[in-house]
Amino acid sequence: MKTVQDYIRTIPDFPHEGIMFRDVTTLFADARGFRMAIDQMLHPYAGLQIDKVVGLEARGFILGGAIAHQLSKGFVPIRKKGKLPGATIAQAYTLEYGEAVVEIHDDAIQAGETILVVDDLLATGGTAQAGIKLIERLGGKIASCSFIIDLPDLGGRARLEGMGMDVQALCA
Ligand code: IMP
Repeated sequence: MKTVQDYIRTIPDFPHEGIMFRDVTTLFADARGFRMAIDQMLHPYAGLQIDKVVGLEARGFILGGAIAHQLSKGFVPIRKKGKLPGATIAQAYTLEYGEAVVEIHDDAIQAGETILVVDDLLATGGTAQAGIKLIERLGGKIASCSFIIDLPDLGGRARLEGMGMDVQALCA
C-alpha cells in the first residue's frame, strides 16, 4: 500500500542549483493521497481543543483549509507582505539570502484562542517561527505545528521545540 511519502516527488535544482525540492503537488493531485495526508495530520489532535487553524503561504493554505473544514473550525492565512487587504501586523525573519516579512490580519485571532499551525514542510523553521510570533502577538496559544515533511538536519524541529512547541510531521 502506498504511503504519503510515496506520493511526494523530489525535483532536483529547484528553485536553485543544488536544492532538492520536495514537491507535494503530486500528493495533493491524488484523491487517496490527499485524504490520507489530511487524515494523518489530524490524527494526533483527536479530542484536543482547537479554535482555529492557521496556514502558512502557500501550501499551508491547501492543507490548513482542508484540516479546518474537517474540524469545523475557522481558517486564518499568514501571507507574505502586502497581500492581505485589512489591517495587519508584520514579522520579519531571516532567509538564507536576506530577509522576508509575513503578515496576519490583526483581528484574525482573539486572545486566548487555541491555534493549530499548518504548512507542508519544515526546514530551518524560520517561516514557522515567524508565524508563531505573529499568532502569539495577537494572544493566540499554539496547540501544535503540523507539517507533512520535516527535514530534521536543517534544524527546524529543534528550533520550534526549543520555543516549547509541539511539532508533528508525517515523514522526513
Ligand atoms: P523554513 O522556513 O526554512 O523552515 O522553510 C519552510 C518553508 O519553505 C515552508 O513554507 C515551505 O513551504 C518552503 N519550502 C522550503 N523547502 C521546500 C521544499 O523542498 N518543498 C516545498 N516547500 C519548501
